[in-house]
Amino acid sequence: MYDGDNDAMTGPRVLVVEDDHSVRDVLARGLRRAEFEVLTATDGASALRAAEQPFDAVVLDIGLPDSDGRDVCHALRARGVSAPVIFLTAKANVTDRLSGFSAGGDDYMVKPFHIAELVARLHVALRRSGTDLAIEDGDLRLDPVTHSLHGPSATMPLTPTEFRLLACLLGAPGALIRRQALERAGWPEGAIVSDNVIDKYISRLRKKLVDAGASQSISTARGLGYKIS
Ligand code: CA
Repeated sequence: MYDGDNDAMTGPRVLVVEDDHSVRDVLARGLRRAEFEVLTATDGASALRAAEQPFDAVVLDIGLPDSDGRDVCHALRARGVSAPVIFLTAKANVTDRLSGFSAGGDDYMVKPFHIAELVARLHVALRRSGTDLAIEDGDLRLDPVTHSLHGPSATMPLTPTEFRLLACLLGAPGALIRRQALERAGWPEGAIVSDNVIDKYISRLRKKLVDAGASQSISTARGLGYKIS
């Protein structure tokens, strides 16, 4: 069934297609907390009906009761829908992953995952598609058009990679963002990114946050990732 609940939110609108109701509830709650407007659907047929309304991105489970999520993605693309699609899959194998991309998906996540990582990837996908809004946290504002960081003391220009990494962190303030998520946010699919390179970018971002007068800073969880708070 299609459950057209949506709050009076103004953030990007995401269609969540997931048959497992506990997973769907966790996703909907987490995305709403992150200021997305959420539409939900429980199978392929209801997803295609829901997709008659405007939306900015899709979170699409591959294992649906009436169809394969990749076929749903094909059907959306065939209708001219260009919104980014992030697949959810329980299977970590490469075959699944590659066929997800050939089905027109933009990204995928293997269950179980942390909602903060999905939020970060949605922001990255929305920014690529040009529909994301400025990201704000406290008195910091990250402008997706000018790629600049506006803080209380100064506006700092960012390189495209710095912008994508900071957007990934600021997309989920206070949450641990794993190195892999930063790699995926900052660099093209398949790029080899050494830990040193990520560290170098993080130290540049720390300096720019200080120069912008930010009260937030980036902390390191050794061997795991980073968070901004
Ligand atoms: Ca499923």
